[in-house]
Amino acid sequence: MEKKNLDWANIGFAYRKTDMRYVSNYKNGAWDEGTLTADDQIVISECAGVLQYSQSCFEGLKAYTTEDGHIVTFRPDLNAQRMEDSAKRLEMPVFPKERFVDAVTQVVAANEAYVPPYGSGATLYIRPYMFGSSPVIGVKPADEYQFRILTTPVGPYFKGGAKPLTICVSDFDRAAPHGTGHIKAGLNYAMSLHAIMEAHRHGFDENMYLDPATRTKVEETGGANFLFVTRDNKVVTPKSDSILPSITRRSLVYVAKEYLGLEVEEREVLFDEVKEFAECGLCGTAAVISPVGKVVNHGQEILFPSGMEKMGPVTQKLYDTLTGIQMGHIKAPEGWIHVIK
Ligand SMILES: *Cc1c(COP(=O)(O)O)cnc(C)c1O
Repeated sequence: MEKKNLDWANIGFAYRKTDMRYVSNYKNGAWDEGTLTADDQIVISECAGVLQYSQSCFEGLKAYTTEDGHIVTFRPDLNAQRMEDSAKRLEMPVFPKERFVDAVTQVVAANEAYVPPYGSGATLYIRPYMFGSSPVIGVKPADEYQFRILTTPVGPYFKGGAKPLTICVSDFDRAAPHGTGHIKAGLNYAMSLHAIMEAHRHGFDENMYLDPATRTKVEETGGANFLFVTRDNKVVTPKSDSILPSITRRSLVYVAKEYLGLEVEEREVLFDEVKEFAECGLCGTAAVISPVGKVVNHGQEILFPSGMEKMGPVTQKLYDTLTGIQMGHIKAPEGWIHVIK
């Protein structure tokens, strides 16, 4: 298989169309058999549920080449489960989990030429998504849906080393109590766009959202969960019903306990505690961990001891161990690496 002639290290993060995508349609109460297609265009009713009432959800994962030359994805069964949870909360039909993993496998194999080579730092980003496709005008769920998976090659997240981020405490809320913060719904992102643009306009990389009910507890950023390290090397990660359950964060918690022998606390984290922590990172598929150097709350700065030059030492160990497992240098727990070919 001849790889596409792309400058893998410099392709960046813009959408780049690949050859094939997966499509399955839900109609009359059932999913069709699904197919791969070269057609990247979607034609739907002007009154489709997704266009009127934002009935949509999505997932995100990556395919990459391991050191021994296999093309793999990381824990796609957890993406399948999370998409099921999202669909149920949005009154959408569930795309069966085994079919989800099979569709990921098919679409990655069909776009093998776009899976970056080992060592490039680049990956093939996989975006499963589902939306209400039939007309809806009175407020109710659509009758018909489309499940699709597109892929697009993306460059290395950290070019020239991971630079710690500066983040600000947002005055906006990401998710309502008892709302949709725990599912991967497009609507959560629609309402975060103003907040992130405001943060950028003020010179910050990301927002730290607090719990909407009391605004005293740390939740997450717009697209990544927090992981803190205490001065005595305990890993602490916020627990809340309105946080999106990051697969990366759950994997890092396992790695911290089982590979590094660290103590881990998953619990409510008060904003007032943040100044006591030694390290802070953001966990998500894109970067695995992005280090945070500074948190600013209305002009008051918290500078973590790990500083603005590099990741803290425990964060670095977590990062190295999980990326080592993903790349095949370190033995993975059973079922974590899904081999495509
Ligand atoms: C997708 C997402 C994450 C990260 O989840 P991963 O499974 O680790 O990629 C974190 N927070 C939000 C709000 C997200 O949508």
